[in-house]
Amino acid sequence: MFKKILIANRGEIALRIIRACRELGIPTVAVYSQADADSLHVRFADEAVCIGPARSAESYLDPKRIIAAAEITGAEAIHPGYGYLAENADFAEICGSCGLVFIGPPPEAIRAMGDKVHAKQTMQVAGVPVIPGSEGSVADASVAKKIVDEIGYPVIMKAAAGGGGRGMRIARNQAELESGFKTAQLEAAAAFNNPEIYIEKYLENPRHIEIQILADQYGNVIHLGERDCTVQRRHQKLLEESPSPVVSEELRKRMGASAVKGAKSAGYQNAGTVEFLLNTDGNYYFMEMNTRVQVEHPVTEEVTDIDIIAEMLHIAAGDKLKLTQDDVKISGYAIECRINAENPDANFAPSPGLITSFHVPGGHGVRVDTHVYAKYVVPQYYDSMIAKLIVHHKNRADGIQKMLRALDEFVVEGIYTTIDFHKKILADPVFQSGIFDTGFVEDYFRRTKGPAINADKVV
Ligand code: ADP
Repeated sequence: MFKKILIANRGEIALRIIRACRELGIPTVAVYSQADADSLHVRFADEAVCIGPARSAESYLDPKRIIAAAEITGAEAIHPGYGYLAENADFAEICGSCGLVFIGPPPEAIRAMGDKVHAKQTMQVAGVPVIPGSEGSVADASVAKKIVDEIGYPVIMKAAAGGGGRGMRIARNQAELESGFKTAQLEAAAAFNNPEIYIEKYLENPRHIEIQILADQYGNVIHLGERDCTVQRRHQKLLEESPSPVVSEELRKRMGASAVKGAKSAGYQNAGTVEFLLNTDGNYYFMEMNTRVQVEHPVTEEVTDIDIIAEMLHIAAGDKLKLTQDDVKISGYAIECRINAENPDANFAPSPGLITSFHVPGGHGVRVDTHVYAKYVVPQYYDSMIAKLIVHHKNRADGIQKMLRALDEFVVEGIYTTIDFHKKILADPVFQSGIFDTGFVEDYFRRTKGPAINADKVV
């Protein structure tokens, strides 16, 4: 096992990785920006190195500074967490050439899956169902129109290098296709440094179901069941559950087998997630693969009792997977609420600032992953997620009640958060029925006459 690990991230995920390292007896190095000097990841790591100013481009996103921090502290490996450099193949390559282990997949696998067009092709060749659409990126609206002639409206235009629910635009007719295409290209170029756009059929009323996989360096690949991330606003996840209320044992096996097959054909290693859309007719289609640990990994940890971060460290260190597919048992039900510093009544506008008081819930089956504490100032520079509240219980109905109880105990004062919003969602009869789709949040606002959110807008 590694003698020292550097964590190239901040916030709750940096803490989560520190915890796994501690339990495995591995010393850790935190890196931080000047805006994060008071962060818990700095306090709880064995060593900490300031790598620059608040701006991510000059700190958490700068490979040179991170590699330098690893070299001066003698770290052997780097865990990138999620976001920042986690899906940056060049960074993974630089780590390798500097003699550092990148705790994630090989650069080739990141590259192959990072380009969404290429990823779809790889999956299609492996026999995994993909959403019908263009075979590669599309040059202009007239080419897009030819594809639409085959697959029909509505379609979704997506940035080949997009991510985080950004860089997507829906067209329901020719006028929208023509006006949207050029804008989509310009936006993709500005946001992701790559103007390439591909198009695919826009599935109406799908569910977002993703499969967690683990792959070692010796070709062994297993899956840890699904997460249902259907509750989203503007294509961004708000709440995740496992198991999904609509996935049967038989469907889990089939989707799991598809994910494993796809990962094998991509030469994938380490932890990853294969994302699918599940149609109302029970068909599922590959959407993309995330080549890193995901925000919502704890729900899988709770129902499988497998520490995904610890597995990532073992895999990166060259250990063989100890688990076989038959060892993976899904037990009970888990749900995660993302607590964001946002105002749900103002279109989820970020709400940074001083947290005047902070009390986290507890009790049996309650887990809180957070880097926040009373008197902490939520910086304006970074992601608005301040905590993840996860509960585990026997079944979905009891799990929802436990989550409602835990949300009631969660006190955050001084800033707006999504806590009350989650309470409303969990108490909603449609949510409780388990039967809904990715339009659920908009539909909820419509039904309850809450603020409209523009879901088709590119953000
Ligand atoms: P990102 O990588 O930016 O998160 P994804 O490709 O994973 O983007 O898509 C995020 C969400 O956008 C999905 O969960 C789904 O709600 C919606 N979405 C993406 N593609 C389609 C599609 N073809 N049809 C319907 N909804 C889609």
